[in-house]
Amino acid sequence: MARHLSKNDPQCNNGLVELLAILERHYGEQRPFWPTDPYLFLLWWNSGYPASDAECSKGWEAVNREFSSDPEMLLEADNRRLAAALKAGGIIPEVRAERIKELASRVVEEFGGDLAGALKKVREPQRRRILKSFPGISDPGADRILLFAGISATAAVPSSSPQVLLRMIVGSAGDNYSRNYRQAQTIIGDQIAPEYGPRQRAFLLLKRHGDQICKRSAPRCNVCPLAQPCAFTHGLRGR
Ligand code: SF4
Repeated sequence: MARHLSKNDPQCNNGLVELLAILERHYGEQRPFWPTDPYLFLLWWNSGYPASDAECSKGWEAVNREFSSDPEMLLEADNRRLAAALKAGGIIPEVRAERIKELASRVVEEFGGDLAGALKKVREPQRRRILKSFPGISDPGADRILLFAGISATAAVPSSSPQVLLRMIVGSAGDNYSRNYRQAQTIIGDQIAPEYGPRQRAFLLLKRHGDQICKRSAPRCNVCPLAQPCAFTHGLRGR
């Protein structure tokens, strides 16, 4: 179980709000560059593989250029033509074409074409169960979808970079991904108001920082705007 951390924890010398302000001064205001509607996000997510931002965006653009994002129209799309368009988003386009067909079919048949509306009608844990029933979506993906769709102000953490928060505030991240993710969620839960704007802002800044500077395998502390207050570098200096 994740250890409960709060702003007053002796290991937690830096307030997340202050650290995010430094990141925002460095990167500027961030906006989501992916579709925030739940169905459209799932379409974007399945348009690329490996599912990086760049590959998903390339596949998504090709699908929208050649076909449409409308689920009814995608159901009518020729499988081979859809797979050919999805080559823009990376490998295994045939598998992704099948997944997109299945996604479109489920959204039309199970959710009347309105996945967002269906999610709003139910509560947790049913919302999460629905989202996790789609391929490639686990808890971090469900948290992100619910937060950015304005359905639930979850303590979402960028799935590719829970290490960022732990290094900044606790000093290091462990080897267990699930534990790191939950601990990072606890920090957000404790320090960021449960409102859409502040939690989306935190997610976007942490994602940008993890993508560009505080990378998983090799953090670039020498160019980091948080080098001074970061608990990770405090630990290095204390050795
Ligand atoms: S100083 Fe290093 S560990 Fe700390 S946030 Fe920056 S890159 Fe990450």
